[in-house]
Amino acid sequence: MKPLITGIHHITAIAGNPQQNVDFYSGILGLRLVKKTINFDAPDVYHFYFGDELGRPGTVFTTFPFTGARKGSKGTGELTYTAFSIGKDSLDYWIERLKKFGITISDVQTRFGERLVRFEDHDSMGIELVANDQDDRPGWTYGHIPAQHSIRGFYGATLNLRAKELTEQLLTRHMDYRLIGQEGERFRYGTQGKPGDIVDIVIDKSGNRGVQSAGTIHHIAFRTANATSQLAIQEILMQNGYMVTEVKDRNYFKSIYFREPGGVLFEVATDEPGFAIDEDEAHLGELIKLPEWAEPSREKIEKNLTPVKLDIEAYA
Ligand code: ZN
Repeated sequence: MKPLITGIHHITAIAGNPQQNVDFYSGILGLRLVKKTINFDAPDVYHFYFGDELGRPGTVFTTFPFTGARKGSKGTGELTYTAFSIGKDSLDYWIERLKKFGITISDVQTRFGERLVRFEDHDSMGIELVANDQDDRPGWTYGHIPAQHSIRGFYGATLNLRAKELTEQLLTRHMDYRLIGQEGERFRYGTQGKPGDIVDIVIDKSGNRGVQSAGTIHHIAFRTANATSQLAIQEILMQNGYMVTEVKDRNYFKSIYFREPGGVLFEVATDEPGFAIDEDEAHLGELIKLPEWAEPSREKIEKNLTPVKLDIEAYA
């Protein structure tokens, strides 16, 4: 049978100041802001989507930023680090670039034979850049970052859990993942085992539970081809006792949600239709786009949102 899940679709974080958020992900990291919309479940909050030039599945980091948001804390039951993929020879470039913008970075670590650095955004969101030669995605060159060094999309995600058994069962029995490696308390799972589909579970038996708010991840979405494959995976998950939501229309994809046994909110999102359905590819992310049901309240909604701007020259 063809796999229903083919990797990571997007990862969504709660954030603070929207302008700082755009400055960090587009300005410093060079991801394209491909969509500026609202949180469909909380229309007074922005929803930003950052990705490659089209916001392809597997590249899209999304945020719900709002000024004055309380800070959360990393802990168990959370996705603690989002890893982005860069070329094998790009780590030095990024270390220099991050230093230039005052970002504190970890020492270079080696994990499964690949070099990486860790750092945090202004909300203390955990990020990693993993240098590797397994990624054939071209990446998106934005602003002043040379194409050869650009972020290609996700490498993977780290889930920090008290125990791995039930989550492993979910991933490997029902979500087309398999165990592909272990280093100490870190267990690695993949669909193909390539950048864009990697999920690591780090076991932290005595860790404190994470507190979800600004600077933490709200959920991780896995990709499925279309509405048909989504219904199939929804059925499988429900048959196996997971409490799955109905299909929600997120305009740019369709979504179902459920909580995995370790506490992390999982989503399965469709690859179709993508971000070019309501604005031109050349102008993605420029205007605030609203779902049809919110259009009548546009004036009120826009009044509540602080305007954001990206000064790309400030990030040369
Ligand atoms: Zn989502």
